Amino acid sequence: MNEFIKIMGIKIDKITMEGALNRVEEFLNGEATKTIYTPNTEIIMNAQKDNKFKQVLNEGDLVVPDGIGLIYASRIKKHPLPERVTGFDISMGIINIAHTRRLKLFLLGGEEGVADIAAKKIKDNYDNILISGTNNGYFKGVHTGYESHKEEMDIIDKINDGDTDILFVGLGAEKQEKWIHKNKDKLKCKIIIGNGGTIDVLAGKVKRAPDIYQRLGLEWLYRLVKEPKRLKRQTVLPLFMLKILFSSKDIVE
Ligand code: UDP
Repeated sequence: MNEFIKIMGIKIDKITMEGALNRVEEFLNGEATKTIYTPNTEIIMNAQKDNKFKQVLNEGDLVVPDGIGLIYASRIKKHPLPERVTGFDISMGIINIAHTRRLKLFLLGGEEGVADIAAKKIKDNYDNILISGTNNGYFKGVHTGYESHKEEMDIIDKINDGDTDILFVGLGAEKQEKWIHKNKDKLKCKIIIGNGGTIDVLAGKVKRAPDIYQRLGLEWLYRLVKEPKRLKRQTVLPLFMLKILFSSKDIVE
């Protein structure tokens, strides 16, 4: 049995990183295509205005909390999530598993050429992994307002023709989850994960916050200092905490 809580109507698995990677192994041993989403506070808040997006997240097979705000909220409301499980860290765990099991990985997302650099860096460090392909994230597809466009269909063929086991989808929050949801039945891979800027970080285009920020739960502060334009987006964080503090129904088990 897999336990979860619901934060503002969105299912979040009560799982550690280790538990999440055990699920990944289970998914890889099964036949079906499984989806992994990694929402943070901002995504949960955005989903409040978008029922379709809420439903998409709730249909994820594994949904892990990639936000310190979610962990604090769960503790305040006495339904504690065991730990933060970030999209980047779970992706690195998946890469490790892919290396051990000699699996095929496809990287979809980012600007032209970035996924190729990421693929090369992965190969340099994990030589057992097979890269079944890469593609930038700016093609005509459901995430850019062109549902079932030929460009999208060609990419799906490329992923399937390469016998992909694991698909990384980095199209930015909301876009990537909606893209995955819409196309998962056409894809033959075992695992599809929406992992935001992971491909950018793997390529060395974007830097992750240093360890100390992560351990103190201040990754958001580091990103804000690096990219001040995120300020508007991050105002949802205090709003989220206020909402949690003053509502008794926002977190249920
Ligand atoms: N991205 C993409 N296609 C799009 C929009 C974004 O491939 O149509 C990529 C972008 O290049 C970046 C990643 O998605 O590599 C994350 O984008 P962003 O920082 O906007 O999203 P976040 O996950 O921070 O909301």
